Amino acid sequence: MRIDIITCLPKLLESPFSDSILKRAQSKRLVEVHVHDLRQYAIDKHKRVDDYAYGGGAGMVLMVEPIVRCIRALQADREYDDIIYTSPDGELFTQPVANELSIKKNLLILCGHYKGVDERIREHFVTRELSIGNYVLSGGELAAAVISDAVIRLIPGVLSDETSALTDSFQDGLVAPPVYTRPAEFEGLKVPGVLLSGHEKNIEQWRFEQSVQRTQERRPGLLGDDKTN
Ligand code: SAH
Repeated sequence: MRIDIITCLPKLLESPFSDSILKRAQSKRLVEVHVHDLRQYAIDKHKRVDDYAYGGGAGMVLMVEPIVRCIRALQADREYDDIIYTSPDGELFTQPVANELSIKKNLLILCGHYKGVDERIREHFVTRELSIGNYVLSGGELAAAVISDAVIRLIPGVLSDETSALTDSFQDGLVAPPVYTRPAEFEGLKVPGVLLSGHEKNIEQWRFEQSVQRTQERRPGLLGDDKTN
């Protein structure tokens, strides 16, 4: 898989991809992530990529032309399965959406900033709009990092234990059971005995029951028709 991200603040995307699982996924060549500086596609020598909003009002808007130039330059080399715009009013990014994106070949993510992007980009160039939650960030970079992280860890081979992405919350419509590690007792706080029993069937059964109970308590919506909350 290849993910291209267009941003006017590329520095914001340096660290999420340069450590731990996302770094390893790239060194194992399971994914390529390329961050593109929108300013390199600016139309004037001042490298300006934003301008005042028509009709007035506070806040700058990312201009249509640099974005189109950047998208077209990337499209000249490959076809994108989706051109995603990160937006608070987009479709809510959930585990099913992450699953869907994880089997794509080429994704392009456009990060908005300031007041957002010129609407013509959203209407004519973007194929999908995703929101990471009902709150407003100052830019799409963190959203792009969240989306990429959730998608990349699903690519087979990225997580060392193949099954571990499958047993995460939401994958089977349930949240994950509690987990413990050593020591078995800390200041009188004990790990549930069943986990120390070595009895695989009982452990599996306990985890399943815990998952169901937690889902009922914390995310009852997952047990109904709406699988997103
Ligand atoms: N004026 C816009 C918000 C702009 S925030 C509005 O009210 O809808 C600046 C940029 O941050 C947006 O263009 C978008 O790319 C990004 N962003 C903000 N909140 C986000 C969210 N919840 N999910 C995804 N992207 C978000």
